[in-house]
Amino acid sequence: SLLEKFERYPLTFGATAIEHLPRLSEALGGKVEVYAKREDCNSGLAMGGNKLRKLEYIVPDAIASGADTLVSIGGVQSNHTRMVAATAAKIGMKCVVIQESWVPHHDAVYDRVGNILMTRLMGADSRLVHEGFDIGIRKSWEDAIRSVEEAGGKPYAIPAGASVHKYGALGYVGFAEEVAAQEAELGFTFDYIVVCVVTGSTQGGMIVGFAAQDRADRVIGIDASCIPDQTRMQVRGIVDKTADLVGLGRAVREDEIVINPDYAYPAYGVPSEETNAAIRLAARTEAMITDPVYEGKSMQGMIDLVKKGFFPDGSKVLYAHLGGAPALNGYSYYYREG
Ligand code: PLP
Repeated sequence: SLLEKFERYPLTFGATAIEHLPRLSEALGGKVEVYAKREDCNSGLAMGGNKLRKLEYIVPDAIASGADTLVSIGGVQSNHTRMVAATAAKIGMKCVVIQESWVPHHDAVYDRVGNILMTRLMGADSRLVHEGFDIGIRKSWEDAIRSVEEAGGKPYAIPAGASVHKYGALGYVGFAEEVAAQEAELGFTFDYIVVCVVTGSTQGGMIVGFAAQDRADRVIGIDASCIPDQTRMQVRGIVDKTADLVGLGRAVREDEIVINPDYAYPAYGVPSEETNAAIRLAARTEAMITDPVYEGKSMQGMIDLVKKGFFPDGSKVLYAHLGGAPALNGYSYYYREG
């Protein structure tokens, strides 16, 4: 394993389930077999999701630093800040999270339900700030770190999506190794992996992990940021730093970083009609719940790519379900009619 030299603090149940999706496969024409790797069901901590796999490699560093407060940032309905709040509760630290108004919304309860509700329940100091969407480092976040210091605490900073943290992508290097082990048990290999990308360390880690198996170009990132150039640059940077860190032993080529920008419209956090159709199809065929910000967009992308014949007949496609369903509560407006 590329990860032997790194310490891991377990926050998840272990290897995540791979589930066959026969009714969705059939609804898409039956020429491609679709499976899901259920990162959304990976833990008992506040409904889980992809951030916990990342945080498992960050927590040892946070503990070693002597910090008493985890500080992070996201949107109002951020899954990431929910997962940081959960981690802080679980390891007995305090938590400050900055929640910026990244997304326009219609629901009256948007800032009271789902992710932010659970974040508050877990005791995090959740601070609402009026700033637009950004995947980089923000002033509001630096202010939060300083405020913890000024109050006599010792902050440990975790950037948006835990992505530009030096250890942020290790968890998804582990995902690639886990898939290979599960394939050996299943007796077949997947031809493609489909994954949502926004802050970049989920796909970035997968690319490094699958590059070690010489199939990183089979990881199809579906952009949900709607700023694909910035996202691609961030993934590139994460891939290079992580490849170095784990000792991949070679540079990752540009053609091994595959990001499709076609499904993020009309904006980050706003579903299109096609996104909502994809959410309904996955729910009605497989009872698999996806959200309008992230997984609904990657589901939409996978569905469209199957319909377009992007995957050759007979392909086995593994959809990485990264979590995010709690945000649906803040989007009830779209689904009043089902
Ligand atoms: N899916 C869900 C449910 C998420 O919470 C996130 C977080 O941003 C993503 C996908 C995108 O992952 P990443 O930010 O690592 O690119």
